[in-house]
Amino acid sequence: MAVTDYEAVPGISPDESASRTGTLVMKFGGTSVGSTERIQAVAKRIVGAKEQGGRVVAVLSAMGDTTDELVDLAHQISERPKPRAMDMLISVGERISCALAEMAIEDLGHEAISLTGSQAGIVTDTTHTKAKIVEVRAQRIHAALDEGKIVLVAGFQGVSTGLEITTLGRGGSDTTAVALAAALGADSCEIFTDVEGVYTADPRIVPGAQKLPVVTYEEMLEMSASGAKVMALRSVEFARNHGVRLHVRSTFSGEPGTWIREEDEQLLEKAIISGVTHDTSEAKLTIFGVPDRPGVAARVFRALADSGVNIDMIVQNVSEQGLTDISFTVPKADLVVAEPILEAACKDVEAAGFTQDSEIAKVSLIGAGMRSHPGVAADMFEALAEAGINIEIISTSSIRISCVVRASEVEHAVQAVHDRFQVEAEERAHA
Ligand code: ADP
Ligand code: ASP
Ligand code: MG
Repeated sequence: MAVTDYEAVPGISPDESASRTGTLVMKFGGTSVGSTERIQAVAKRIVGAKEQGGRVVAVLSAMGDTTDELVDLAHQISERPKPRAMDMLISVGERISCALAEMAIEDLGHEAISLTGSQAGIVTDTTHTKAKIVEVRAQRIHAALDEGKIVLVAGFQGVSTGLEITTLGRGGSDTTAVALAAALGADSCEIFTDVEGVYTADPRIVPGAQKLPVVTYEEMLEMSASGAKVMALRSVEFARNHGVRLHVRSTFSGEPGTWIREEDEQLLEKAIISGVTHDTSEAKLTIFGVPDRPGVAARVFRALADSGVNIDMIVQNVSEQGLTDISFTVPKADLVVAEPILEAACKDVEAAGFTQDSEIAKVSLIGAGMRSHPGVAADMFEALAEAGINIEIISTSSIRISCVVRASEVEHAVQAVHDRFQVEAEERAHA
């Protein structure tokens, strides 16, 4: 995980003019701006914040499922659309939301200016469809704020150092918001979404999931990396590296949500487990009949890495008669790239062949308290066993345990693991 991507990038630290306080960055996700009525409601909320006297920057996502629809359109035209063209296409959705919000805000009697990522000074590297922000040139935003305007920035996009339009990867409007909050030295970065905060599991799958008042950057990083799409992974990395405290809350209520911030003494008393996450976006690849000798894994994984394929979990079996199997998971979206490379790599290392399996899901348990409480892994495996669910691959970090299971069993698995730890948390609370 490239958590240091943004460290030591001078353009992102607050510039001199950002020492003016009272700047608020508000980000609204796709459902929150999913219709014209919702955009009007969001406009009211933004104007309400402005009327409190602050400098307000709002980052908007594309309306509803617009980005998915644009991606579908591309695939109707072409099996392998060029990433540059893809970015030209999918960056459009956010621009629509911002333009409409500008109109709605003007109708409420306030001045607003909508900006594309490029106009807002979001400069990225040249990796189309998953670009990284390398600098924020916020002069134009400052100038507009100085004129008393509300600034609306199209999320999820930027302009590359090669002057091309880029996008930041799915969920990337979160990253735009956090980068702007860091660059503007904002007092607060509020992520408005369609749930009331970060929960102990996806509330759409586990109705009994609890809202967490606070999670640490570290826990949120693990949750996002293992599938909790409520915050995009890059945005949390960014927030941690730049000390931006985030407040994830609902667009549709005034209730306080979840704060994401650094760990401190107060937080040490928290529950052992902060959440159960799941991810169905990966596929499992197995190379079989691999000669068990030094350098083989290195050759296979180097070839995949050089083509930008992200590997997640890896297991290698004990070898029998000098041959072994290696299984690993990759994003389903990377399969088209991975397959030809694996075919060549199998020949190269004289493996017998490979298989792919898209019907898998990953269930993960996350909590900083795991470090000091032995037996958490055993509890998780027991919960899955009692639910009759087979575990295919296991991987761990110091604060996470992940298990690959059949995709058809994912909801059952999340519920079973969540129930187990909820009961324990309740027992501790009453002890
Ligand atoms: P937005 O469009 O506002 O960015 P997303 O759809 O990207 O919203 O993220 C919010 C969704 O994340 C929720 O609707 C919820 O289903 C899902 N989600 C997954 N895991 C969690 C979790 N642990 N807590 C809250 N929401 C979660
Ligand atoms: N619209 C983009 C997406 O759907 C970015 C975002 O919503 O954060 O991924
Ligand atoms: Mg999102």
